[in-house]
Order: sequence, then C-alpha cells, then structure tokens
Amino acid sequence: MAKIVVEQIPVLADNYVTLVHEPNSGATAAVDPGVSEPVLERLAAKGWQLTHILNTHHHGDHTGGNLDLIRRTGCVVVGAAKDSERIPGLSIEVAEGDTFLLGGAAAMVLEVPGHTSGHIAFWFPDSHVLFAGDCLFSLGCGRLFEGSAEDMWASLKKLRELPADTQVYCAHEYTAGNGRFARLVERDNQALLTRLEQVEKLRARGLPTIPTTIADERAANPFLRADTKSVAKAVGMEPGADPALVFAELRRRKDVF
Ligand code: ZN
Ligand code: FE
Repeated sequence: MAKIVVEQIPVLADNYVTLVHEPNSGATAAVDPGVSEPVLERLAAKGWQLTHILNTHHHGDHTGGNLDLIRRTGCVVVGAAKDSERIPGLSIEVAEGDTFLLGGAAAMVLEVPGHTSGHIAFWFPDSHVLFAGDCLFSLGCGRLFEGSAEDMWASLKKLRELPADTQVYCAHEYTAGNGRFARLVERDNQALLTRLEQVEKLRARGLPTIPTTIADERAANPFLRADTKSVAKAVGMEPGADPALVFAELRRRKDVF
C-alpha cells in the first residue's frame, strides 16, 4: 500500500491544518481546514491538487475552510456520519472501523468521542500516521464538551494502543501549556522532563512540537497515564483507583488550571 507525505500548516492562533499527499495517485487531503487561504497557498507551492477534506469533528476551527475549498477545488469531505448535520459540505459519511482510500493509501476511521460526540480520528496503517484532532494533544487531551470522562478515557485508551512509533498529528499547538500542568502531576517522570526540554527548545525557535509519537505520549502524557500509580497518587487517589475516575479528576483540575 502507498505511503503518504505530510505537510503541516500553522493557521489561526494555534491550529494546524495538515496536508496528506499520496504521490502515486496525486490524491491530496487537507485535515481539519479551519481556513482556506493558507491551504490553497500551500497546495499551489507544492503543486498538489486537493481531492479530499478529512474532518475530525465539526468545530469551526476545523471546518471553517470546507465550503470555500469545495467551491475552489471540487474536493469531497470525509467526516463522521454522526455529524452529518454539523459538518459543512460533508459528502462521505464514515463510522468506526470504516476504511477508505486516499488514492492508494488506506485510512481507517476510529470513533473517539469525548471532546464532541461525533469526534473521529484517522489512522493510516501503512505509514503509521494518526490524525487525532482535538482528542489527543501532546501532553494533554481535548476538553469534554459533549462527552463524559469515561468516554474520553476509552477514546484515549484506543489511541494509546496504536503502534508505539505512530506519528501523531494533533490539531493544536498546546504542548507548552499542557506541559506546565503535566509537570505538576508527575514532577519525577523522566520521559516528561525530557519532552519538556525538547518542547522548550522547539518553541524558542518557533518550531512545532507536533507530530509527537504514541510512545512519547504513553510515557509522558498524564492523561494517557490515568491507570498508573503515580498519576492516581497525584490527584489524591488510591493506587488501585478506577482509571476513569482518576482521568475525570485530572481533566477537572486541568480545566481550572
Ligand atoms: Zn474542537
Ligand atoms: Fe479545535
């Protein structure tokens, strides 16, 4: 199966739109285009034709460019069937376990509710690339707008099980802020301290901290570690506490951090 090439475009205050290009067929997708102009500019610079939009969820900072991109490129929009009323221009409705082709590259749909009820992630198994939208961030996770802590914990566990070397593209550059909270939770976690040093260096040079990897997030992201003794202890719970409850308390504390 064909491998993909990825281009990350910083837009708005802290969003990333990512272009996914399959070179054999020329198929090209924009993941979560919150705006259209910077996407069209990058497409022109690369000489790529937009064929698809992939939306992880309906929020405006992820879908705001849909209609203009459809009008100007004729691309199709792939998104959750559950959000057919909320994603502008949605034409290919997908659900858990569905696989579709971006040219010769297979993409699998994972339902990851919690941030919104219809949130999905896109997993490219032949390239080990994940588009996590606003579910999983580096050193953090999305806010619970339409789901319970249990939903989000289950969604994060699903993503955590992907191969360790998976490159994770999140939709926001929130890593430094997330890191300040994570450090309060696990101040002795060496993987976290290493990641924080790396993040500081990257941001000082104005560079993205994304993509991250599943391995790094398993080791350093407190929200993926709600079933560890150290994170349970950090939120004042017993070592054997229900991880969903630990996760809920962690998310509550981050909300007011
Ligand atoms: Zn969102
Ligand atoms: Fe967002």
